[in-house]
Parts: sequence; structure tokens; C-alpha cells
Amino acid sequence: MALPNPGVGPEKFLLPAVFTLSELYESYCTHLKKCVSDVSILITDKKSDKPVSWGKVYEHWKTNYSTYCNVWGQRDGCCEKCCLKTQEIKDCKNDPNKLELLTKELEEHRNLATTARKTYNEHRINTAKEDGKVVISLDFAENLMVPHLSNIPSTFYFRTKRKIDIFGICNEEITENGSIQLNYVIDEPFKIEKGANAVISMFDHYLANYVEKGKSLVIYADNCCAQNKNQYFIGYLCYLVKILKQYNEIELYFMVVGHTKFSPDSHFGNLKTRFSKAKCQSIVDLLGEEGIIHKSATNNKALPYKDPLTLKKNFEWKDWKGFLPSKFNNCTNIGKWHVVKIQSFGLNISVAKSLGEPFEEYKIMKGELMIDENEQPSILEPKGLGEPRKEELEYFEQFVDSEHKLFIKDTY
Ligand SMILES: [Zn+2]
Repeated sequence: MALPNPGVGPEKFLLPAVFTLSELYESYCTHLKKCVSDVSILITDKKSDKPVSWGKVYEHWKTNYSTYCNVWGQRDGCCEKCCLKTQEIKDCKNDPNKLELLTKELEEHRNLATTARKTYNEHRINTAKEDGKVVISLDFAENLMVPHLSNIPSTFYFRTKRKIDIFGICNEEITENGSIQLNYVIDEPFKIEKGANAVISMFDHYLANYVEKGKSLVIYADNCCAQNKNQYFIGYLCYLVKILKQYNEIELYFMVVGHTKFSPDSHFGNLKTRFSKAKCQSIVDLLGEEGIIHKSATNNKALPYKDPLTLKKNFEWKDWKGFLPSKFNNCTNIGKWHVVKIQSFGLNISVAKSLGEPFEEYKIMKGELMIDENEQPSILEPKGLGEPRKEELEYFEQFVDSEHKLFIKDTY
């Protein structure tokens, strides 16, 4: 039985999903009966003829093991690979060779996920406290649709409401309010394609405003190739470390596919819970000290691309995809990379396929370039809303208060 690892958070030890907790109980009872010749001395649960009652076993489980031990089930991440392999294992219980092979494969995949999770927790809990280190995780949430009202006319279901994108960047350092997440709020007229340019522009704004220069960064991102796991994001990080020398070193970790639950998700969870219960007539209700995002948790902050009330633009979209490729190679095999280490010297980065595997060198820079620090990527203007979309959105105006009407079909 695994014991909790001191300092490494409330990580749970997961039992194989080839059985449920009640199946475990059944097999325990059968085993007990086999071990004792006179079964009658064991039968404590007269009604069910079981040597020990389910209630007692469950109570024992809850008090002694449930805090750090659980049966690996679909709830624990809903990983496709885990679910499929578990089903295959159940289906081939009569074929010992296949069973052994599949169990081994599933175990390897899980061990990988467990190691990645432990490393993440180690970074989140310990590294984030160290001087000179900053641990950051980033992700997109599902978009929010407004107006979100308690009484919804059925006609709402046939129309698409105004979409608001949320991109969270979390500083993993645990403060008295937990880790602090800044949620970038992008109202529909101000969106650009949800890809590398969007991610890098927001991340660049975050670093410039919230992370001191000269630090070493540890960054966690999911495996989305369009958004984070691409040559542009890695090129951008190299630009910061190797050319601008803004940060000492950057380590970039991609979450194991299927096992990507990390801090941004818990912040999004709070936000979604608050949003689902609240009345949100327009983006205005999401923002500010009294807004839904900040009210969802004190460690959830919000920053809109453009403030609907002051009309101040907080950051710009930039064409990083146009700016970076002339300087960096295109990261062939990036799909297989799990860890990327970027140091300020040399033309290479170190990459590893998984945690614990040796690092290989990849030549990322096209050459020792004399780069003008003032050279900047060009600014991208969002396209705004087209006429057909404005017409579609206009329908919703009649359901909101006058101070929100401006933010339903218009670009402010
Ligand atoms: Zn899995």
C-alpha cells in the first residue's frame, strides 16, 4: 500500500480499474472463505452470508485508505487510453497472455502519468516557493456564452449567444489565497484565431507585467498542437532566453495526453460554478471586483482584451507566427517531446520524450543571429463581427437591461 509522499500534495494512489470497490469486496470475501475451514465463525453478516459486511469493509476503507488510495476509474481524468485498455482487459480475462500484455501496457502508461503528476506537484508545491523560480501553467477554458439568464426563453436554444473566450495563466506559487490565476477575457468581436498568435500574445503580456526578469521559469501546458505544442511557442520561449536574455532558463512540460488536469482547471471550475448560478447579461458582469470571475474565488482575476466601460485596450494581438520562423528551426518531432529545456547559451535546446528519459539536443536556432531587440512582431487587428452575426446577436438585446445592450451585438 502506498503511503502519502511528504510534501508532495494529496496525490492519490490508484488501484487498477480492472475491478470496482464492490468487486474488490467480493473477491476479498471469497478469499476469506477459502482461507478458513469453518466458515461459520467468520459469517458476521447473517443476511448476506458474507464473512464480513460490506458496511464494515467500506467503513474501514473510508477511515484508513480513502484519503490516499482510490480505484482508478473514469472519473480520474477520463483518459481515453486508460478507459479503452481497461475495457480490453475486462474483455480478455480468459486469455492470460493477452491479459498480461495489456495489463503491462496499461501499467506503463499509468506510471508515466503518475510520474508526470508527481513532478508537476513537486514543481507546484516546492519549486514555486524557491527564490528565482516561477512556475506557471496555462490553458484555454471552454468559452462562456452571454447573456446567461435564469429564465431562458426556449427560443434561445436555436440561436448562438455571444461567445467569450477565457485563457487562464496561473502562477503556481501557493499564497494565502492559493495559486493566483489571471484570466484573459476575450469578447467575441476581439477574437483572433485560437492558435499560437493568441497564446503567445497573452503569455507575452503576462510575463512582461507579472514576472520579473532574470528568473528561471517552469511552464506547464497541455498537448494542444495548435495552441501551445508548436514551433512558435517554443521559438518564442527561445527568443526570451537566448536572444533577449530576459530569463535565465525555461523548462517547458507538456501534460500526459488524457491526464491533463492541472491548476487552470480548478480555477475554471470555480468560475464555471459561479457563472452557472449567476445572471450574466454581458461581459460587464464578468469583470471588476464585483464581477463573476473575481467573485468566483479571490484567486481568480480577470483582464479583458478591451475594457467595456473604460474602453482601454489592455494588450495587443501580435503576429508571432510571422516574426519567429526566420530565427528558429521548425521543431520536427515536436509531437514526441514531453519536456523541453531552454538555456541562454548555444544554439540548441534539450528535449526528452518522457520524464526520466535522457535528454537529446535539438538545434533550434538557425545561427548566431544579431537580432535587434527593438524589432517587434507586427500588431494584428481582430476582425470584429460580420453583419450576419450582428443580426443574429441583435435578438438577445431585448432580454437584457439597458446598460448591457451596447455589449450584445456591438463592437465597443
Ligand atoms: Zn491514461
